[in-house]
Formats: sequence, C-alpha cells, structure tokens
Amino acid sequence: MMDDLRELYQQVILDHNRDPKNYGEIECTHSAEGYNPLCGDKLKIYVKLDDDRVADVHFEAAGCAISKASASMMTEALKGKTLEEARDVFQKFINMITGSITRDVDEAADELGNLIVLAGVREFPSRVKCAALAWHAFNSALENKDEPITTE
Ligand code: ZN
Repeated sequence: MMDDLRELYQQVILDHNRDPKNYGEIECTHSAEGYNPLCGDKLKIYVKLDDDRVADVHFEAAGCAISKASASMMTEALKGKTLEEARDVFQKFINMITGSITRDVDEAADELGNLIVLAGVREFPSRVKCAALAWHAFNSALENKDEPITTE
C-alpha cells in the first residue's frame, strides 16, 4: 500500500474516533454488548428494526480508536439496509479484515465504501478483534442474546 494512502486511511480512522457517527443510546428493538479483553474495548450496539430493515443503529463505546472507528463506520454502512443486505456487508467486512478476500481492492471498496480503510488491520491479528467487535455485537443483538459477547 502506498504511504500516502495509508496516511489517508489513518486520518479517516482518527476522524471517526474523535467524532463518531450515530453515537449514544436510542430507543431500540435489539441491543447487545461486546467486550474485547485483549485490548479492553467495550461497546454497546442499539439496533432499531422496522420489519426486516435496519431503521437505525447506534453505539456507545469505551476503547481504542480502531474499535470506535469500526463501530462508527459500521452504523453508517448498515443504516437503511435490509437484514439480508446487512448480513452480506457483515460477511464481506469480516472477510476483508481476516484476509480471506483475495480479490481486487477496488472491487471490495465498491462494496464496502469507507470501511476499506480498516483493511490494514489484517496485518495485526490483535487489531482484527478490535475492528470486528462492533460487528459481532451487531450480530448478537439481532439474535437477542442475553450474554455479552466477547472476542475471546
Ligand atoms: Zn482495541
């Protein structure tokens, strides 16, 4: 990856960390907590479903920049999606950060938008858990699990 591109990606992550989108509790139909003991990231995801559409999704978090930026970008990516579309984005994102996408980065960028800036975490296994935390919490919110999810 080019150095200036890496810097740009870094900037997007820092911006989302400093000024997270869709932050704070909302009236919701589903919620779940996530915890990543490796890094100490904690977050809570609030999902408001309208039939099979994600009408709104918010989060609260205490953790590192990667976990917060990933949650912030996730809320932007999933809001307005149907459950089927949301699960598709979830799978593509997890594939991207765990390195199982071998396709062209441009193609992944079309599908994942801003989320592509998190692709670099795949080089850092401990950071993959930070980036994935919000997504797993979103999934567990939809399943209405009572137990907080943990990445361990
Ligand atoms: Zn973290």
